[in-house]
Amino acid sequence: MATNGGSQTNGTSRKPNVVIVGGSLGGLFAGVALKTHGYNTTLLERTPENLLHNQGAGIVAGGDTLEFFKRYDRTGKPVAVPSYKRIYLDQKGDIIHEEVNRQNMTSWDLCYYLLRANYDRVDSPYLEGGKLPEIRPTDGMINYVYGATVTGIEDKGDYVAVSYKRKREDGTEELCAVNADLLVAADGPSSTIRGILEPQVKRTYAGYCVIRGTVPELEGSEAALEVFRERFCFFHAPGIQNLTYTIAGEHGTTERNRRLLNFVWYANFPEGSPELEKLMTDKNGRRRHITIPPGMIAPEAWDMVKQMGKEKLPPQMAEMAEKTKNPFVQCITDAITPKNLFMGDKVVLVGDSLANFRPHTVASTSQAAFDVMCLVDWLDGKIDRKEFIKQSMQFARAIQDMGVKIGDRSQFEKLPIDEYIKDRNFASIKREDREYPAWTLDGLDEI
Ligand SMILES: Cc1cc2nc3c(=O)[nH]c(=O)nc-3n(C[C@H](O)[C@H](O)[C@H](O)COP(=O)(O)OP(=O)(O)OC[C@H]3O[C@@H](n4cnc5c(N)ncnc54)[C@H](O)[C@@H]3O)c2cc1C
Repeated sequence: MATNGGSQTNGTSRKPNVVIVGGSLGGLFAGVALKTHGYNTTLLERTPENLLHNQGAGIVAGGDTLEFFKRYDRTGKPVAVPSYKRIYLDQKGDIIHEEVNRQNMTSWDLCYYLLRANYDRVDSPYLEGGKLPEIRPTDGMINYVYGATVTGIEDKGDYVAVSYKRKREDGTEELCAVNADLLVAADGPSSTIRGILEPQVKRTYAGYCVIRGTVPELEGSEAALEVFRERFCFFHAPGIQNLTYTIAGEHGTTERNRRLLNFVWYANFPEGSPELEKLMTDKNGRRRHITIPPGMIAPEAWDMVKQMGKEKLPPQMAEMAEKTKNPFVQCITDAITPKNLFMGDKVVLVGDSLANFRPHTVASTSQAAFDVMCLVDWLDGKIDRKEFIKQSMQFARAIQDMGVKIGDRSQFEKLPIDEYIKDRNFASIKREDREYPAWTLDGLDEI
């Protein structure tokens, strides 16, 4: 396991030095790919511990997430649990529509630990059945620094000067600096780097929240397992969408009966409403802006949510809310940056810092993987700058816009179920088969 600020070297240092801001999936995709292509990287993550907290969340593994692992994973550990059918329930819990459709489900923590193994050789129980990756002589040097909050960047002509605050073991802080030939901003939807470069871009609340949690497969009732096991199960009602599916269990196990049932429940909470205030005020009385993390929801807020579940959800889905021990809440937000290259191409935005997709797109993780794969293709001369901008920006613009449209249709319009099924199928079109509207090219030549 790498120590804080530790590095792994192979003695080569011909390629540019890259600083990556953010050590979640986007930053780690960048770290793993750049290391493999021989770039030296320093990754700065603000979380004060070596490992990020498990987000306890399922992720639909989109094509580009799977492609990333196919290209770069050296652990050999399977990343996804397949789901073979999409089914739609009515409020009584009866199936009203089903279609055969293979989709791959994974979990945030499995992706995270496999990426850490590949980046700085962090060993973990997630590698059971896999292996710690070998070091290759062609690898770039790596340096994972935690407790490092980036506060500023400055264009120095040939390089970017990056300032950050570093938490010492004793809790005090020191001011640090590092220079980058290239800075990759993977610092998420509230990106500090974007805030410096494009302060007019705001992250805005969409008027609804997502309530999420997991239940061990073995704790599900027969009725619940019948619809959630290896199924992608949906329910729509005015102001509500719920989807529940099976994901890998503890330490990434995909073994039957040891997996988790993962629910994602969108519910409208108008801005300024007493219900939103109640939901977003944590158990210590602190009003959280965007997220109530696992373990922090106030008991009275959770009672309100469970009551809503009993009244409005099919019984199998209400059961998930009753049984989960680790619920968490996120406000759904929107943000899109007009361009992804800054400071004479020395700063690039990837993943959620570039475009904060609504989760209905099931494409956020894939976006980060795709951005990084395009970036490496450009750096290695496989595609030119124009093509890099076109590929990454068109995808960001088209999917961000689609997320707003299908999210708003689902939450704020009352449509026949066929319309929601159509939206879901549209969101699932593979990136390479997607036709982008012409407006997604607007102004790209000026970047
Ligand atoms: C609970 C949860 C559930 C999710 N479910 C899904 C899903 O089902 N499907 C899907 O595709 N995606 C999902 N996502 C989103 C997915 O995790 C992200 O899209 C993916 O991680 C790529 O985002 P990112 O790395 O660009 O940004 P983030 O994941 O937001 O990471 C940003 C990182 O930057 C760090 N950071 C921020 N500011 C600074 C700073 N100033 N200095 C240093 N570090 C900084 C943060 O601590 C964080 O670790 C989910 C995310 C969460 C949190």
